[in-house]
Amino acid sequence: MIDKKQESLADNNQDSQTMVLSSRTSKQISLPPVLTVKQLGELIDVNAVDIIKQLMRNGVMANINQTIDFNVASVIADNFGYKVKRQPSSVKSKPAAAAKGAKGSKLAPRPPVITIMGHVDHGKTSLLDAIRKSNVIATEAGAITQHIGAYQVEMDGKKITFLDTPGHEAFTAMRARGAQATDIAVLVVAADDGVMPQTVEAIHHAQAAGVPIVVAINKIDKDNANQDKIKKQLADLDLVIEEWGGDTICVPISAKKGIGINDLLENLLVLSEVLELKAKPDGPAEGVAIEAKMDKSMGPLATLLVQKGTLKLGDIVVIGHTFGKVKAMFNDTGKQIKLAEPSTPVKVLGLNEVAHAGDTFKVVNDEREARSSLERNRNTEQAFATKVAALSLSDFSAQVSSGGQVKDLNIILKTDVQGSIEPIKDSLEKLTTDKVRVRVIHSSSGSINESDVMLAIASGGIVIGFNARPESGAQRLADLEKVSIRYYNVIYDLVNDVEKALKGMLE
Ligand code: GDP
Repeated sequence: MIDKKQESLADNNQDSQTMVLSSRTSKQISLPPVLTVKQLGELIDVNAVDIIKQLMRNGVMANINQTIDFNVASVIADNFGYKVKRQPSSVKSKPAAAAKGAKGSKLAPRPPVITIMGHVDHGKTSLLDAIRKSNVIATEAGAITQHIGAYQVEMDGKKITFLDTPGHEAFTAMRARGAQATDIAVLVVAADDGVMPQTVEAIHHAQAAGVPIVVAINKIDKDNANQDKIKKQLADLDLVIEEWGGDTICVPISAKKGIGINDLLENLLVLSEVLELKAKPDGPAEGVAIEAKMDKSMGPLATLLVQKGTLKLGDIVVIGHTFGKVKAMFNDTGKQIKLAEPSTPVKVLGLNEVAHAGDTFKVVNDEREARSSLERNRNTEQAFATKVAALSLSDFSAQVSSGGQVKDLNIILKTDVQGSIEPIKDSLEKLTTDKVRVRVIHSSSGSINESDVMLAIASGGIVIGFNARPESGAQRLADLEKVSIRYYNVIYDLVNDVEKALKGMLE
């Protein structure tokens, strides 16, 4: 995936990346004498794959679980805009402690879970269909695929799980409920159309979640397909494909004609190997509900994506506000199964009530434990509500002035015209201090929509409208979830308010 030929190009890219990064005021970090690549990623909030690539550029080959020493780690952290100090050896780093918590558990590779994103009509549904048709694991002859919210395909003996609801809206709605189900986002861009507003939204939503993007340039069978135009448009958005010296995998496809589908799947497998996706296959299952509904004859049904452990027939599952005993499980071919391992989606029968998509679940020992766990869930829900209620600039300011643990101010910026974005974004990001980083995680022109509000919830951010108004659905959602939206028509006022908030001085 990382082509030696590209190295000089990659270096150029690295320079521009370093430049962008160091234009932010550096943040301080103290690093231990030795740590793993994964731990470094967690500490500096950078995807492990990006660290691995940066290491390669510096001549160090390491995988995600390999340890690197302070000197190497500090070069990498520096590349990502950090000022590095050596941590006294008595201080244990947090991720190291977290890793200890998982002791005794044998991690095993698990299939990647993929969400398909992109602008409307660019071919997301067609791609999901093409993949499903070409590769479904037909466990029994004549098995008919069922729509349960996700499906698995097999490529070179390895499985890949696809979530069946395409789009960044569903993805971010799940995140807003606290669930992260996706490992990789496939961004579909139609070659006859190019980068469109929802393409940009999808990129920002995936990036805000730290989910790597693989680009699928679709509709290459069309006469007016122009792949180069798309590559350039993506580069303008800082999504530079490998062929052009960047990090992003790009595969030309035609969902309609079935061209390039296997190539896309192979690339997804390569990337998931780099990501070293692993989970404990034994022990009680945990995961997330990806679909839930009431069935007239069967009662509440939910499709659960197992993320850890193995879900078994007869297990007692606590999920969101409800619980139940797994009376029957079906896979995506409609076959009744008794066990479901990590990354497997299963339709489950036996819950007491209908769950919500995005609810997390876990298996408990008995009904008593289920009830006390439900009680705890209710309390966390309250905690979640307070967190959401705190998503206002003045609350942020209050947290700063009381010395609270705020480090990133995530902003979703909507403007009336495209031309206003860059000057406002630049002025805001320049406000970054050594304590608080200002990140404009999404910006575009147009009215404030529901997915902007969802993104604010999912990222703990705020929405700012510059001469931009909310759509009615977005306002309803913001009211319901207590997300405050701030409106401005003078740039100076906008920047001034954010600056005051960063100093803890906004009334
Ligand atoms: P979605 O809105 O992103 O889910 O897009 P759809 O999958 O519904 O596709 C939109 C339209 O584009 C449909 O009419 C598809 O038949 C067509 N389409 C999708 N993929 C291709 C392709 O590879 N080539 C061509 N020529 N048409 C395609």
